[in-house]
Amino acid sequence: MSKKISGIAASEGIAIAKAYLLVEPDLSFEDKEVLDAESEIKHFHNALEQSKVELTKIRDHAEVKLGRDKAQIFDAHLLVLEDPELIQPIEAKIKDESKCAMTALNEISTQFIQIFESMDNAYMQERAADIRDVSKRILGHLLGISLPNPSMINEESIIIAHDLTPSDTAQLNKDFVYGFVTNIGGRTSHSAIMSRSLEIPAVVGTKSIVSEVQNGDMIIIDGLNGDVIINPSDDELKHYQSLQAAHLEEKAALRELKDQDTKSKDGVKVELAANIGTPNDLEGVKHNGAEGIGLYRTEFLYMDNDTLPSEDVQFEAYKKVLEEMDGKPVVVRTLDIGGDKSLPYLDLEEEMNPFLGYRAIRLCLDQPEIFKPQLRALLRASVYGNLKIMFPMVATVQEFRDAKAMLLAEKEDLIQSGYEVSDDIELGIMVEIPATAALADVFAKEVDFFSIGTNDLIQYTMAADRMSESVSYLYQPYNPSILRLIKQVIDASHQEGKWTGMCGEMAGDETAIPLLLGLGLDEFSMSASSILKARNLIQQLNQSDMKSLVEKALNVATMEEVQSLVASYTKQ
Ligand code: PEP
Ligand code: MG
Repeated sequence: MSKKISGIAASEGIAIAKAYLLVEPDLSFEDKEVLDAESEIKHFHNALEQSKVELTKIRDHAEVKLGRDKAQIFDAHLLVLEDPELIQPIEAKIKDESKCAMTALNEISTQFIQIFESMDNAYMQERAADIRDVSKRILGHLLGISLPNPSMINEESIIIAHDLTPSDTAQLNKDFVYGFVTNIGGRTSHSAIMSRSLEIPAVVGTKSIVSEVQNGDMIIIDGLNGDVIINPSDDELKHYQSLQAAHLEEKAALRELKDQDTKSKDGVKVELAANIGTPNDLEGVKHNGAEGIGLYRTEFLYMDNDTLPSEDVQFEAYKKVLEEMDGKPVVVRTLDIGGDKSLPYLDLEEEMNPFLGYRAIRLCLDQPEIFKPQLRALLRASVYGNLKIMFPMVATVQEFRDAKAMLLAEKEDLIQSGYEVSDDIELGIMVEIPATAALADVFAKEVDFFSIGTNDLIQYTMAADRMSESVSYLYQPYNPSILRLIKQVIDASHQEGKWTGMCGEMAGDETAIPLLLGLGLDEFSMSASSILKARNLIQQLNQSDMKSLVEKALNVATMEEVQSLVASYTKQ
């Protein structure tokens, strides 16, 4: 019997493949006294050996499939497996205290983890993480339980997980991972955003997928409607195979628009840009005919490493993006860490409300030693293309002034040291906080541009956590309250001769696009995979009609009324 589960549609398309459960297994055990210490030590060494064989395989595979960088972490794990300082005290505990291998391993590794974690040193903190990972692997072998190894996936699979971190998602090999389904998350959680840049179908926020699916079950993902079918019948399989073919055909037809301008039917030109997380996303950007980069989320540079990326490493990444975009605008957002994007090696204090806490520009202004290398790398890269810089999560005019002052001071310093820096870098802010939208007319006098971050602006305006599927009904981009805030921002920028873009997911939403065109948005930045559909839609709309649509939409009561207005204005 097949079973259908619904969640939040995160990335469109149909995927059909076998399930791969990426779930931490239960590694609990009962402590027991051992009578035969020698055979328990042997049992422990067997587990070490099995772990070594397994890790070597994973390391070799990662090196071929994901590159040397990603493989290095497994080298560090292999070293832990051979470390006498860890192994000898475990053997001693088994021999002298009659502890079983599981308890001995647990006690000794916990001691090391606590010591390393308490050190104020990123290198030692990483060692703590290595020991934690390796101990888990050894414990799995002691208990006869195998751990999931996503980097080893080598057949067509659909990943089933509670959640995927951005770095989990970044490590997925698209040749084999056809899609994913998670228990938690919403349309704007980062796993969802990554699925769109990878252009693989995904459904998030199903609440229960992990407990409904077994490894190897056949799965269908309908990423447009947010449905997941577990062990489909032959008829269901046929139905979705034909939907899949139709979807691929539609995508192929849209390719014709790749090199066309984005102009409304009545000739109003807007810019369609792409959101990227790493230079690797550039392929999709070009393939889908983006006119620029509207949001380069630089935090992935920081998340993919175990330490802060140096000024030079960052410079190379920014230079590459600017050069590859060949003079087209590239808006780089400075580090936006916090919320659902954490940096384990920074060892930040846990907060009750991380989305409202010490993050993004707040952290960068407070820790110039983190911020300055990024600013310098950007300034140095500026001569290689058309760079614009924006600051995330700006809440006050003073924050913008402070960030700008820091940038100008670094610019001066670089010029003094003989570097070339472009004189033509636009400086903007993301509008993600209602306070900033309310004061847009004042900000507009000081910034060169706005980019509206609706993922956060909607969560803060509605007071609804973007990660929570239980309140995901409050993610209401078409609510008149949100439209009014957007109008205020766009009008304020135009009043000062500045421009406004949008880089939240709303910019690529087919119901929102007619409204945004009517509101006069200048730049729409979205997942590259949405660009051609957006261009197709805009080419069929008259901006003048959309202006009258928006006038009505701003004055109704509910999101549903706005949706029906849009439908009545856009139906052929
Ligand atoms: C946003 O908040 O809309 C945005 C684009 O930033 P992020 O999704 O990275 O928070
Ligand atoms: Mg944001």
